[in-house]
Amino acid sequence: MGSRVAAENLRTLSELAGGLGIDLISSLAIDDGTRGHFHEVIREISSSLGYAVVMGLRLSGPVLQTVQRAPTWTYYHHYRTVNFALDQAALRLAGECARMGYRALPVPASQVLDWDRLRGHLSHKEMGKRAGLGWRGRNNLLVNRDFGSHVRYVTVLTDLPLPERGITDDPGECGNCRECISVCPVGAIQDDPDHFDLDRCTAQLRRFSKSEKLNVLICGLCVRVCTGRAGGRHDRKVPDG
Ligand code: SF4
Ligand code: SF4
Repeated sequence: MGSRVAAENLRTLSELAGGLGIDLISSLAIDDGTRGHFHEVIREISSSLGYAVVMGLRLSGPVLQTVQRAPTWTYYHHYRTVNFALDQAALRLAGECARMGYRALPVPASQVLDWDRLRGHLSHKEMGKRAGLGWRGRNNLLVNRDFGSHVRYVTVLTDLPLPERGITDDPGECGNCRECISVCPVGAIQDDPDHFDLDRCTAQLRRFSKSEKLNVLICGLCVRVCTGRAGGRHDRKVPDG
């Protein structure tokens, strides 16, 4: 009975999200382990919000094609536009939860709270992984089997009962693909995602921010080459279904 209600709730939110242009949606139940990674500013309030819905919006392939040696202003604009659309979708879903009689907190799609470690309220990619939307790739991003890393994500925390969809990380899921390794200008990407060099990556983002005169820390090189099945370029071993 409870799981039927939860599935129906997710269906209601999915229909709304689909009308807003959202490409991917899933949910998860939040345990204390997951909550422990949240920024302290939302940790207490989140203890009364036991579920999360995670939404993904695809990035434009042609826009990413402009990122050949460094992030472009075209990509910068697109990045901001997609984040804005995700924030709007999160706002609308939170409103729908409220109309259904529940509480909801739309988490900002891209707001840095910890500038040393470049962390926001929570990791949307980690939430997406736990919701079953993909796996942590060699590029340290969430890789969706269809769209690769060409997706940005947002999370809404709520007490509306939703299905638990979590899957465990499987580092083998990138399979034989190593497209992102050679494209990284600082060698931050290794075979094993656990050996990803976040410090090198972050330092390069700061360099790009100055050299390209962007007031945001973006790169896009390893995003561009991670196209997923929709891009048709990867020889990955991914499960069906
Ligand atoms: S974002 Fe850029 S610097 Fe960081 S790992 Fe990807 S390609 Fe390398
Ligand atoms: S480009 Fe290939 S190896 Fe790199 S994260 Fe994507 S699927 Fe994995």
